[in-house]
Amino acid sequence: MRVAIAGAGLGGLCLAQGLRRAGIEADVYERDPAITARFQGYRLVLSPTGSAALRGCLPQRWHPLLDAITGDAYGERLVLDPWLNKIGELGPGRTGTVIDRHVLRHLLLTGLAVHTGATLTGYDVLDDGRVEARFAHGDPVVADLLVGADGVGSAVRAVLSPQTTPTDTGVRFVIGRTPLTEHFAGLERAFGSKIAGDGVSLLLGAMRFRTPPKEAAEELAPEVVLPDVRDYVRWAMILPPDGSRGDVTPQETVLSRIEGWHPDLRALIEQSDPDNSTLLSIRVVEPREHWAPGPVTLLGDAIHATSPTGGNGANTALRDADLLRHCLTEGRRDLLGAIGDYERQMFEYGAEAVRQSLDALTAFVPQSESA
Ligand SMILES: Cc1cc2nc3c(=O)[nH]c(=O)nc-3n(C[C@H](O)[C@H](O)[C@H](O)COP(=O)(O)OP(=O)(O)OC[C@H]3O[C@@H](n4cnc5c(N)ncnc54)[C@H](O)[C@@H]3O)c2cc1C
Repeated sequence: MRVAIAGAGLGGLCLAQGLRRAGIEADVYERDPAITARFQGYRLVLSPTGSAALRGCLPQRWHPLLDAITGDAYGERLVLDPWLNKIGELGPGRTGTVIDRHVLRHLLLTGLAVHTGATLTGYDVLDDGRVEARFAHGDPVVADLLVGADGVGSAVRAVLSPQTTPTDTGVRFVIGRTPLTEHFAGLERAFGSKIAGDGVSLLLGAMRFRTPPKEAAEELAPEVVLPDVRDYVRWAMILPPDGSRGDVTPQETVLSRIEGWHPDLRALIEQSDPDNSTLLSIRVVEPREHWAPGPVTLLGDAIHATSPTGGNGANTALRDADLLRHCLTEGRRDLLGAIGDYERQMFEYGAEAVRQSLDALTAFVPQSESA
């Protein structure tokens, strides 16, 4: 069986690893001109489900490396004022481990055939039941199965389910990171908490690697080359609807909104890495329309994009990858039976993940300034 995967994000790469482990050929086609072409280095919280799915797809010999490059998710989950005084509690939160997305992506890329600069533009199902994928440049590719793991704006979804389209929540947020120095370790109480004031929320999270990823790979799995990333603080500011401006940098956006806040919070933003901060919009995709199983399917954000406040987008994409791997490789079903099994389960938990993330969004979004 030949599988073509559109999108070298977490879900697509995880599936490719899982299929490779089972001896199935899978080629990945990625739109970006290079793997490091844009900011992708934020911190993710892996839930027990997401971790188990990831392990299910990765070769067992990399599991110790995975343990070494994750950290514990912890935090008091408080609500703090701009001077870091406690004013409330966020309530029980997610448990699991934290991992850097850029590092995880490098681990997932190891040993895979990834074609970069390959923008999928459409596909046709052929008379023999296979599928031909077309790209903006280069020759088409014929495969037994095409998996659209091409994110929230999925080109595969646009053909398979044109009625399923992303909804813009209107919420924007700025995200960045700053090296975790001894000085910023003093902000411990704010890690995992929400700092609220002046109509905005600032969220901090520490990424502490048990072992620096590059060194861990050299020691535990020399065939894996991981980036040299050190501990950092991830910060994110959720803006009120219409609260973003296009003519200032992400740091300036945040600094202009935290005047008079605790000096360590301002210093944290001032000392952030300008290449690793960006303004993002929150769009969701709700899986509603079911289609008859065929040689084309979707996974991850392409079919159930969540708000990052739910902390479940990557976990659900990894779960899809492991489930699809399982359906394709275990049991004795034909291809369409396997895809049908996968889609039935994925639709159910995918829709639930989107619902949960939208519920969580309301706790973090400040009121519109024009309201
Ligand atoms: C700031 C932030 C924090 C987050 N924190 C968490 C968290 O703590 N926990 C969690 O579970 N989730 C989190 N998420 C969500 C998570 O990152 C995503 O849900 C996850 O990356 C989805 O994986 P994916 O493989 O479906 O899509 P993506 O990772 O978006 O990958 C899609 C890939 O497809 C490529 N592509 C797009 N179009 C085409 C095309 N036409 N042809 C070829 N390639 C194409 C893209 O370039 C991209 O590489 C967070 C997201 C953000 C933005």
